[in-house]
Amino acid sequence: MKVLVIGAGVGGLACAIGLRAAGHEVEVFEHADQLRTGGNGMILWPNGTGILGEFGVSLDGLGTRLDRSVQLAQDGSPLGEADWTEVAEYYQASVRLVRRGRLVERLAESLPADVVRFGARCVSAETRGTGDQARAVATFADGTEVVGDVLIGADGHRSAVRRHLLGDHPAAHTGWATWHGVTALPVPLTSGHEVNAFGGPAGWVALHPVGEGLLFWAFETPWTDGELVPPGALGDEPEPGRTQSAAANLRARFAGFPHPVPELLEVIEDQDVGLFPHVMHRAPRRWGEGRVVLVGDAAHVVPPRVAQGVNQALEDAWVLSGLLRESGDPAALLKRYATVRKPKIRALWMVAKMADNDFGGKVLRTVAKVGRQASPRAQKRNFRYFSNYLSQKSKNMRELARDTA
Ligand SMILES: Cc1cc2nc3c(=O)[nH]c(=O)nc-3n(C[C@H](O)[C@H](O)[C@H](O)COP(=O)(O)OP(=O)(O)OC[C@H]3O[C@@H](n4cnc5c(N)ncnc54)[C@H](O)[C@@H]3O)c2cc1C
Repeated sequence: MKVLVIGAGVGGLACAIGLRAAGHEVEVFEHADQLRTGGNGMILWPNGTGILGEFGVSLDGLGTRLDRSVQLAQDGSPLGEADWTEVAEYYQASVRLVRRGRLVERLAESLPADVVRFGARCVSAETRGTGDQARAVATFADGTEVVGDVLIGADGHRSAVRRHLLGDHPAAHTGWATWHGVTALPVPLTSGHEVNAFGGPAGWVALHPVGEGLLFWAFETPWTDGELVPPGALGDEPEPGRTQSAAANLRARFAGFPHPVPELLEVIEDQDVGLFPHVMHRAPRRWGEGRVVLVGDAAHVVPPRVAQGVNQALEDAWVLSGLLRESGDPAALLKRYATVRKPKIRALWMVAKMADNDFGGKVLRTVAKVGRQASPRAQKRNFRYFSNYLSQKSKNMRELARDTA
């Protein structure tokens, strides 16, 4: 089959790798003139690293291993901690901290250079014809059309493919944003294998190494659409539209947070601070129509606080490329893909909704509860709630153990 993929982010590139391995001809269309390697630190859980392994994408030198995470309240008192080594060993897939851009580059290196066509902005996607004669057609901003057997909309949360399929219901802002960057900070955290997170009424801070001697840092605060700097000290919110120093506001707001937040706040400057507003889709009932289907953020964007965006895009690519190995009506296979993925995404959506609801109260209590419950056994089970890949892997492992008993 000829498969058209719209978008060369993690979802689109992973689909291209999986579908080429399944024997299909794949073309990826990306609206930017080159790979978009922006974005900051992300966690690849055992579903993400396991799928990358199955796709033959090497993790060598990509970010760094994550062994442990620790959550503390703003005053330094413990909220919870988790050891990830047992989960990684159980699923035989590591947990890694990576920079989004490095992952995008690594995926692209796994594809022949001519698979991705840059400067191609898709404006609509549709199925033309019926039954065996049906075809997927992408229309681009310059008026050209490309025809394939199947089209995958992997064009992120502002997806043109989604808009065309499901109408104009953009992902909604949750009222939170992350102010983030990477810095070479001389603290042990930069070279370790640990995520440290701190939360309280002022907001949330997450710090973790991403390899190459760099520390990824993220400050989460309430956010109103259009704000270009974070709010300052609690109770001293800036007037709307007033421009201030992003770094100075973070220093005021997160003053008094535990080590190494003060050391970090001392060295970051305004130009280091990137803004990433949190948005969320309602998980749609339909993920496609006919020969056109959605993957990744185009189908189900969730805020970074649940640390699953990249992993769920990889899950979509894994399920979809597995199903499209089968013969049969492509439209029926695309429907099956959505049926398989929906329950996992619904479960994730519920958690994401809860996590982004009320920062000072519910979230901290939830984090503490999850921390307390995060025995390795509970972690193994929790991962399966959100992962078709780990559910399948677990089933295979159980069957293997039974057969060899
Ligand atoms: C530049 C960038 C920075 C990001 N930074 C962060 C971050 O710091 N933290 C975080 O949690 N998540 C971030 N994300 C989102 C994160 O990458 C996704 O949640 C996850 O990787 C799933 O990816 P995706 O492939 O579904 O979507 P995306 O990563 O959004 O990729 C979509 C791709 O489609 C392309 N595209 C969009 N519209 C069209 C069109 N009409 N025609 C053709 N191509 C199109 C985009 O240019 C992009 O390359 C970022 C995304 C991008 C694009």
